[in-house]
Amino acid sequence: MHTVDTMHPVLKPALRRGWRDLNTVQFGVAPPHAVVLGPVDTATGAFLTLLDGTRGLSLLRAEGRRMGLPEGHVDGLIERLVQAGLLDDATGGGPAADALRRSGDVIDRLRPDLASLSVVDTAPGGAMRRLAARRALRVQVRGAGRVGVVAAAMLAAAGVGMVDVQDGGRVEPWDVAPGGLPPEAVGERRSEAARRVVRKAAPDRPPRASGGRAQPASAGRAEPGPSRSELSLVLLAPRDGLYAHTPDPATAADLITAGIPHLYAGVMEATGVVGPLVLPGWTACAGCLAQERTDADPTWPRLLAQWRSGRQRQVIAGDTALAGMVASLAAAHALAFLDGEAPASAEARCTVSSPRLEWRAEPLLPHPHCPCGAHHATARERHAGLSPASPASPAPSSRRATSRPPTDHRDHRATALTPEVSHTTDPHATAHVDACRQIKRVRTAVVGERHETMTR
Ligand SMILES: [Zn+2]
Repeated sequence: MHTVDTMHPVLKPALRRGWRDLNTVQFGVAPPHAVVLGPVDTATGAFLTLLDGTRGLSLLRAEGRRMGLPEGHVDGLIERLVQAGLLDDATGGGPAADALRRSGDVIDRLRPDLASLSVVDTAPGGAMRRLAARRALRVQVRGAGRVGVVAAAMLAAAGVGMVDVQDGGRVEPWDVAPGGLPPEAVGERRSEAARRVVRKAAPDRPPRASGGRAQPASAGRAEPGPSRSELSLVLLAPRDGLYAHTPDPATAADLITAGIPHLYAGVMEATGVVGPLVLPGWTACAGCLAQERTDADPTWPRLLAQWRSGRQRQVIAGDTALAGMVASLAAAHALAFLDGEAPASAEARCTVSSPRLEWRAEPLLPHPHCPCGAHHATARERHAGLSPASPASPAPSSRRATSRPPTDHRDHRATALTPEVSHTTDPHATAHVDACRQIKRVRTAVVGERHETMTR
């Protein structure tokens, strides 16, 4: 791990800079990640331009002295910028990050993803560490339809090292989608055609790791699927969206038993759904959802039995653009989880219906009568004082409190040479603290030691 002294600070290029007045600079445009720094006097402003990742700290201190900045000012400024999440470390992130930096084409392709991660992960070197950690992860996608294959390709393209798609049968003309199965795949075995799409999305997937945990995607050879215990996440994207909209607890029973996190995504008629993200024993599962629906509508099981037993229509509704949205959102939620964050799907299902196409979040809590036990685990946590909104709960370090410059009324011009960072509190941050803690704990347990060692 790099110490502060070895870091090569770089002001995160992903955050656009703008001067609000002569001595106040705003980093970032979008409110969730924007930060205001001030007051910044002329010398400090000139010094900021040196933070481009080419200089180590000792050189920066020397430059600071040359520019007439007071003793200790450079270190204080660097510390503040680090605290504000504005500084990256051009050499940080550990050995896996170093390997990724040297990878040429791979890192060039992933640069926009890296820049995005630098906005999310506030720690210097954190973005590169996360991106490198993705290379050791394995995700299984169940369902090679318009949602599943597109999401699988996105996960691979975003740097997930092993993405395996499973489905039966052969590609039908209506399985084809932009970013997913191509028209020329019609008639091929679905799983093989889907794996080829995944390989094409990330032709530079990582080599086999020691211990046989990561397998190369060798073209033209049947790839054995990863064993279930090695999976970081399973994306359940059934071609028949009924099984994502009203998932059958039996189809995920193996995942619940094995403690494997899984995420549902699909299109039912003209409604897209992403979630729940099930962390077995911690967050609501398909069984919880079924119980909740039965509570609200006692005839629900009767309807469900008819929907599931009816003769399957040859073509199932699934608008191309809607399916693409669902695939994208599912991949984004999956990546957030794999990166150690708490996406909203852990506590709610996101749904969207044509033609209004407004995303809605339907809150989902573990059900007390569901055998998954998530309700009791959550209750125990609460009893142990680890409940949401516990005043002592610090926000996870990777989650920055929102800085919304226009609503922050602090006077940034009060003192010279000691710029302050203005933050406002994200009203949702506290509610997410518990989910974040749970996700990090479950992730540590299921994603595996190998990944954890890479992320440190
Ligand atoms: Zn449950």
